[in-house]
Amino acid sequence: MALSKIQTTTGTATPAELGRTLVHEHVLVGYPGWELDARAPKFKRADAMLRAVDQMHELQSHGVSTFLDPCPMDLGRDPVFLAELSQKSGMRIICTTGMYFEAEGNTFTFRHLPVEEVTAIYVQEIEQGIGDTGIKAGAIKMATGADTVSDYERKLVIAAARAAKITGVPLISHTQNATCGHAQIDLVTGEGVPACQLLVGHSDGTPDFEYQKSLAERDAYVGFDRFGISLFQPDEVRVANIMKMRAAGHLERVLVSHDSIMCWLGRPLPYAPSFEAMLEMLPDWRSTHIFRKIVPQLRAQGMTEQEIEIILVDNPRRWFSAGLAS
Ligand SMILES: [Zn+2]
Repeated sequence: MALSKIQTTTGTATPAELGRTLVHEHVLVGYPGWELDARAPKFKRADAMLRAVDQMHELQSHGVSTFLDPCPMDLGRDPVFLAELSQKSGMRIICTTGMYFEAEGNTFTFRHLPVEEVTAIYVQEIEQGIGDTGIKAGAIKMATGADTVSDYERKLVIAAARAAKITGVPLISHTQNATCGHAQIDLVTGEGVPACQLLVGHSDGTPDFEYQKSLAERDAYVGFDRFGISLFQPDEVRVANIMKMRAAGHLERVLVSHDSIMCWLGRPLPYAPSFEAMLEMLPDWRSTHIFRKIVPQLRAQGMTEQEIEIILVDNPRRWFSAGLAS
């Protein structure tokens, strides 16, 4: 049966309580196998916690009250760390169930499990909790690789959609190079989940506004969720395309975030030799960047305060509400 409330790492919330929400940021991320890399920098939990609390306080000074960390199960997901961080910082933090795409995820067990089993695993993590932590997932991550959806990815996306239909939680996706967004919508709606329960993530990985518009026309949320990652796309293009979404009447399908990472577990291969080097390479890749530099740009291009709140408050609330029992 669909849930009637949003599940956070520390309890539940109503849609109205979410407030300003960042829909795609990470606290901890590590590629599968990071813990086997004896020459990688060690994870210092207490230091990481202190830094994460500071960063949450900085976000709160910009009015953010909810933080969705859609870390897949196979990328170092740590719900206990997130719950402790939520308690220490006062930030509402939501975690996810679901797996990453085949090329960068941990595939062996899940490659062999049938779709029914994967669905049951996702549902269990939402309804009963993750492992024995008692912490429940509040959204489902799904992911596809570049250009084509592999059989493995198709199975996991179908499992994600089925679990979303049962529980009512939203679906948040990874796309690679802003491809396969329509295939994701096809698979999700094919399982009877409305497209408005899906955020097609990383849709800002292309300058192609027609692609972004076409996702919104099918009622999916469109993720402009890599602000600050100039490696993939300049922010000017993201801002320009959000203004085009507004002009085309699709502002209500725009969700913004940075896909920032507070602490990298192991080495951030293949992008940089170290996390520090990556932060130096991408000086705007910080969870406060939208508030410091992007909101002023949107304003300068004519966006009203009310429209900015639609993007930051109303759109996340509507997306989270899409599948809830009323
Ligand atoms: Zn991410």
